Amino acid sequence: MDRQQEFVLRTLEERDIRFVRLWFTDVLGTLKSVSVAPAELESAFEEGMGIDGSAIEGFARVYESDMVAMPDPTTFQVFPFEGGVSGESARMFCDILLPDGSAAWADPRHVLRRALAKAAEKGFTFYTHPEVEFFLIQDGPLDGSLPIPVDTGGYFDHTTHSVARDFRRQAVLALERIGISVEFSHHEVAPGQQEIDLRYADALSTADNIMTFRHVVKEVALSQGVRATFMPKPYTDQPGSGMHTHLSLFEGERNAFFDADDPQKLSKTARAFIAGLLVHAREYTAVTNQWVNSYKRLFPLQLPNAITESPAFVSWGHLNRSALVRVPAFGKPNSARVEVRSIDSATNPYLAFAVMLGAGMKGIEEGYELPPGAEDDVWSMSPAERKAMGYDALPENLSEAIDVMSKSELVAEVLGEHVFDFFLRNKQAEWEQYRREVTPYERQRYLGAL
Ligand code: GLU
Ligand code: MG
Ligand code: MG
Repeated sequence: MDRQQEFVLRTLEERDIRFVRLWFTDVLGTLKSVSVAPAELESAFEEGMGIDGSAIEGFARVYESDMVAMPDPTTFQVFPFEGGVSGESARMFCDILLPDGSAAWADPRHVLRRALAKAAEKGFTFYTHPEVEFFLIQDGPLDGSLPIPVDTGGYFDHTTHSVARDFRRQAVLALERIGISVEFSHHEVAPGQQEIDLRYADALSTADNIMTFRHVVKEVALSQGVRATFMPKPYTDQPGSGMHTHLSLFEGERNAFFDADDPQKLSKTARAFIAGLLVHAREYTAVTNQWVNSYKRLFPLQLPNAITESPAFVSWGHLNRSALVRVPAFGKPNSARVEVRSIDSATNPYLAFAVMLGAGMKGIEEGYELPPGAEDDVWSMSPAERKAMGYDALPENLSEAIDVMSKSELVAEVLGEHVFDFFLRNKQAEWEQYRREVTPYERQRYLGAL
């Protein structure tokens, strides 16, 4: 037993915690949980907890279904605000292993660990910082009717008696109490829409934090009698919920994206990384934007005094908010970073970070050249202008996205064959189901007119 494991057992005893949840994530990004009594934990640390992988989305074919969830003691966290009469509870993330002790290829955490190890061979550690947007809506039936937002606020609005403000305060306090640092929180553009930005951390911790974040935010919403949703685009005429993610590579203590001698302070490494993100953008979009609904967000929407700020074309720039990749102004050398703006709040963060890192690393390994940045609004150009500038369109829908992904050697390599195949099959089925559906839009438009 190592020191971390001993610390976990000691803490459970000292705080009289009766439930420990072991968490892991399926291929589609759904959180899975199994509770163990503290008495069982010592053996769980040694042998793991047996699980039936065939029951988990994307994990195993039936004949190789025995898997083991091995708790990672470095992720141990007490949830002081949960439990009620049964006292505090705690959780740990797990790595999923096969019975012979090797990593299960289907485990998203393993996919990310593998991508991180590959970057580490080149001397890089990968940091991420997500800006998570979501909607707070009134609790109501989930039957396809229009959800009612909890407020009528807008961007940065400070409303004195709003559910949203109290909600954000509770959510941020809860997150801080379990060691997830929040940098920023505010009301977003649409009624009911919120944003909470997490402080940057190494990508594995950030992905774990995002999974925890979704759980905590939903719980806090529930406790206030409302519902939080990470659906990318609930309303046709309001902006969707993105999860802009800032990426950076470090070499030891030094930010590898910074170069004091460059006019834009961007290193060659940063430029090649951005080029990789752009060259392979169409290929990994199915992963960063994995639902039918994700593609309703990647579309321009004219609001009374602005245009929505989600990208639909492959371009990069400094100020330009229609760009797929933006380089924010940074003061300190260690803050040099790039922001990917296509990714949405309903992605599987482990897989999304793995494919973005893979694309950027490919740019570095192959020495991709970065084209000049676009400071124009790419949205307002004509298709011919965009073509002349070389701004490819992102996939327009899930079908196109999986088609492009299915031909991508890079994504196949990063995800591994098992996850790659499962993902494509699953998403194809999702698309087929959507495609056959006759929608209210069609009945409204055609029933009377035709
Ligand atoms: N909600 C916008 C999106 O869908 C982003 C707005 C912002 O810049 O924060 O990406
Ligand atoms: Mg935002
Ligand atoms: Mg942003």
